[in-house]
Amino acid sequence: MPDFDAIIVGGGIVGATVACALGQAGVQVALIEAREPVPPEDQQPDPRVFAITRASERVFRSLGVWDAIHRRGAFAFTDMEVWDAAGDGVTHFDCADLGEPCLGHIVEPRFIQTALWQQLASIDAVSLYCPARFETISILDDRVEVTLDDQLLTAELVIAADGARSPVRNILGMETQRHDYRQSSLVALVKTAEPHQDTAWQRFLPGGPLAFLPMDGGWSSIVWTMPSDHVERLLTADKDVFHEELAMAFGHRLGDIVESGEREAWPLQRMHAEHYVDARVALIGDAAHAIHPLAGQGVNLGLLDAAALAEVIVDARQRGKDSGRLAVLRRYERWRRGDNLLMMKAMDGINRIFSKVGSPLGPARNLGLSLVNRSSTAKRLFMGHAMGLGGDLPKLAAVNEEASLSV
Ligand SMILES: Cc1cc2nc3c(=O)[nH]c(=O)nc-3n(C[C@H](O)[C@H](O)[C@H](O)COP(=O)(O)OP(=O)(O)OC[C@H]3O[C@@H](n4cnc5c(N)ncnc54)[C@H](O)[C@@H]3O)c2cc1C
Repeated sequence: MPDFDAIIVGGGIVGATVACALGQAGVQVALIEAREPVPPEDQQPDPRVFAITRASERVFRSLGVWDAIHRRGAFAFTDMEVWDAAGDGVTHFDCADLGEPCLGHIVEPRFIQTALWQQLASIDAVSLYCPARFETISILDDRVEVTLDDQLLTAELVIAADGARSPVRNILGMETQRHDYRQSSLVALVKTAEPHQDTAWQRFLPGGPLAFLPMDGGWSSIVWTMPSDHVERLLTADKDVFHEELAMAFGHRLGDIVESGEREAWPLQRMHAEHYVDARVALIGDAAHAIHPLAGQGVNLGLLDAAALAEVIVDARQRGKDSGRLAVLRRYERWRRGDNLLMMKAMDGINRIFSKVGSPLGPARNLGLSLVNRSSTAKRLFMGHAMGLGGDLPKLAAVNEEASLSV
């Protein structure tokens, strides 16, 4: 008998979520995480935040962690405004038009991470190996063997939630398709002279989009995407210069920038695994796909992967099947790969259309923004996907009340 039903490598937000979902359903899991997963309480605010969709909020509610996340700090945004720097096309989304209390929440990753790990500590079916580093994996007919530091663990399957550079995926030689955007995203917390109006703002500039995401106390988190060779200068620029260039890039929409915190930059690459599964292995989250951050979908897609894979494993076990069999895991791949690919292509298309300097598409994209603004059907369709509510949702995300899985 293997030691566990499943071994999860990587206890970031996606790995911790699948561990919670499986553990709460009574599946025996081992979670291996290399880093200290819960940041110290007095840690400085994270300059990078996540826009959490309504679907992800439902997953967290179902796992019983949403209240803890909300208590620590989740800022609800009610509106979203998108416009093109090279024209007058603008689209405004208001949650009231969609019959929703908000469009989503802006949350620091550490708040989600801490809430999930505190929940994990209370689940008997979850064994935590942390800090511990996954080293090797052997796939056998009836089980997987995983080594970490000096230990050997066995299970029916391994779930790789170990990020975009996934050691599990690399060791197993699972192929990926990649594209270098030659863009980087500069992130920082900034305070503006005018209030953000609980609105997520996005202005498309020739070098890439600039987003202002609303947070408590009048602060906003910016994600400023630009050609990679421009980012270094702005990372090291004096505060005053940075504030001035940022306000200008944003068309002074919220007035001057009056304060800002630490700046960080992330190079952007699209990556998609050709297969999410193999016998006794499943990839989820950034281990399976890395996507352009322009609509803040990355971790949200990973959370839906986690909820879908947990459901497939629990269903198989309920029917007395070996959940590591390729035929079982393929259901997860069929469920999630197409949806993720669609979202990646949509992000690529938007990035390409809006990033072209002097593009002949300029008038068409401005017209497009104005047309969407006038059509409630188009708005509903667009926002349904942006809120994660389109497609075939897993049980943990699908209903308004909290759902649960059990073997
Ligand atoms: C600028 C920017 C802005 C973004 N904004 C958003 C947003 O608004 N909304 C959104 O949804 N997404 C956003 N994303 C995407 C988001 O950051 C990722 O999709 C998300 O962090 C992926 O989570 P994950 O748990 O899959 O992987 P990770 O967070 O990378 O976690 C992987 C874990 O595996 C562990 N690990 C790795 N190797 C080993 C090993 N050998 N042994 C043990 N453990 C190991 C790591 O320590 C880590 O904890 C943004 C990305 C960028 C670059």
